[in-house]
Amino acid sequence: MGIEAVNSRIAQIQSRIIAMQTQQATAPKQASPGTSATSGSGSTFATALADAMGTQSSAGVAKSYSLNSKGIPTELAGYGNGKIPANALAKVGDTGHKLWAPAAESLNRMIADAKAQGVKIGITDSYRSYGEQVDVARRKGLYSQGGLAAKPGTSEHGWGMATDLDLNNKAQAWMRANGEKYGFVENTPREPWHWAFKPKAL
Ligand SMILES: [Zn+2]
Repeated sequence: MGIEAVNSRIAQIQSRIIAMQTQQATAPKQASPGTSATSGSGSTFATALADAMGTQSSAGVAKSYSLNSKGIPTELAGYGNGKIPANALAKVGDTGHKLWAPAAESLNRMIADAKAQGVKIGITDSYRSYGEQVDVARRKGLYSQGGLAAKPGTSEHGWGMATDLDLNNKAQAWMRANGEKYGFVENTPREPWHWAFKPKAL
């Protein structure tokens, strides 16, 4: 980036800071949907700065990851489907459910933002070990044969990259409008509850 571009970015950021200071002075309680999970002027400022720099969306799908040709983070691919160690997973809220840590973090933020907007998102399934995938396939049948389970060792749940949500009509509509901002996409026909986490590639 040339010096002129840098100067123009700095001017852009300075004007955002002035705008924010003015906004805070005149409307201290102002809050917008994308920032409801943050608190205090520090994080609001950080969000504004990141937006100005174009490095982070306000919904927070910020980081990008090294992905293999199938879109699986290389960190996870190294462990193997259904064999993700506990230290690569994180809890979803205070439930017993776990996902790959960045997916859990984004899901937690999404659930909190939805709640702030009066939308309840429940969770019924998350990471599945290989053994659990075998069990689900036995109980629900293989998807390829009209059932609802992936072939063991291939499920997105086995990467800690998918969650099954408990959604009423309002929440289903909210997810279809907002899920992608948090990295979650509805990608399986016949399973409107199944949401896969799709991080940005480096
Ligand atoms: Zn699922």
